[in-house]
Amino acid sequence: MKIFKFGGASINNIERYINTGNVIKSFSGEKLLIVVSAMGKTTNALEEVAESFFNNNKETALKKFELIKESHNSTVESLINPDYSSATKEKLKPFFTETEWLLHDSPVRSYDYYYDQIVCCGELMSSSILCSHLQQSKLSATWVDVRDLLRTDDNFRDAGIDWEYSKDKIGETIISLFKHHDIIVTQGFIGATDQNESTTLGREGSDYTAAVFAHILNAESVTIWKDVDAVMSADPKKYPDATNITLLSYLEVIEMAYYGAQVIHPKTIKPLQNKNIPLLVKSFINPSLQGTTISNTVSKSLPPIVVHKEKQVLMSFKSKDFSFIEDKPAEMLQQLFSKTRVKPNLTQHTAISLLCCFDYHPEKIEQLALEAENMFDVQLENGLELLTIRHYNEESLHEFIRNKIILLEQKTTETVQFLMRM
Ligand code: ASP
Ligand code: MG
Repeated sequence: MKIFKFGGASINNIERYINTGNVIKSFSGEKLLIVVSAMGKTTNALEEVAESFFNNNKETALKKFELIKESHNSTVESLINPDYSSATKEKLKPFFTETEWLLHDSPVRSYDYYYDQIVCCGELMSSSILCSHLQQSKLSATWVDVRDLLRTDDNFRDAGIDWEYSKDKIGETIISLFKHHDIIVTQGFIGATDQNESTTLGREGSDYTAAVFAHILNAESVTIWKDVDAVMSADPKKYPDATNITLLSYLEVIEMAYYGAQVIHPKTIKPLQNKNIPLLVKSFINPSLQGTTISNTVSKSLPPIVVHKEKQVLMSFKSKDFSFIEDKPAEMLQQLFSKTRVKPNLTQHTAISLLCCFDYHPEKIEQLALEAENMFDVQLENGLELLTIRHYNEESLHEFIRNKIILLEQKTTETVQFLMRM
């Protein structure tokens, strides 16, 4: 059995839905478990609904939701032939109704709770439409609500998986569905608690869902179908010399994700690595291309891999009384970082100060600066960029930093990082 994950971009219009159907068809005879994200930018639109609702703008929330409904219904009308379209719309109705009921209430629980109850409907709708499309193309496909299979804790918006429960439930259900169907369509990104409350696994979490299924079902492979030819060594818009990478190790991908590369959701690798299941990244536009294979195999000759992060802020925390930044002060700063939910991308010590580079989230950074000011002289500079290069070679380095002012630099034998003014 193979696991396929299709993201929002692969189903963001009718042509893309048809294309996705064709990719799936070309694997006829195989058992496929298909994990789908929400259509296009639906998750962002649903986030706006959740925000309006939580801010007591019921009318706005309902209006915004109406637009989402209409776009899904019109996708059904254009994609699904008349014999199937009313049945497909019937399938969507309960998701609409559930959400609208909730939107008529007034918020009494946490924002994160409502976020998950509202946002989950994106994946439920897109996967239902895809399944109908496959069925009308005479494929033996069935649909399953992942919330009946994937149990999580109630840490809304970043739910943790209950592996014990999910393992049994997924094992039983999927194996029995595959007895009668070749294709099972389900949702990425969402799950449910033991109280049947919907949960989400964090933005872009569908990759992770695919990996969880693969781990539990001992799948032969996971394929993430994307609108790029392969994982690339850098962003080609910024670095015209960027090349496709055909082979990557799990470790390399974890490192890339750690430094901020937005290739694959960072949680995806562990469940696959633990069972040695290869992860393929392939183009849904041009499936005959080789793409990238991520596995245990270590590639001997990797090009320099570049991860570029903009909107960085450099903060320096200097002790006011000349005490060294160690033990107590360092511990205090760590606590402040976790309290304000910021994570340094780069840190450097001097005798009496600590320099840290963070993603620039204005509210969080302001709060951090404010709280740290009791103990430290705080200075900050924003509008910076952080460049990370793995497998660098000394000769090519100057190309990357030409005409830049370097504020911080850190080097290991494998990785170099520069924090620079743009
Ligand atoms: N639809 C969700 C998001 O946009 C999950 C995903 O795409 O993986 O974040
Ligand atoms: Mg997505």
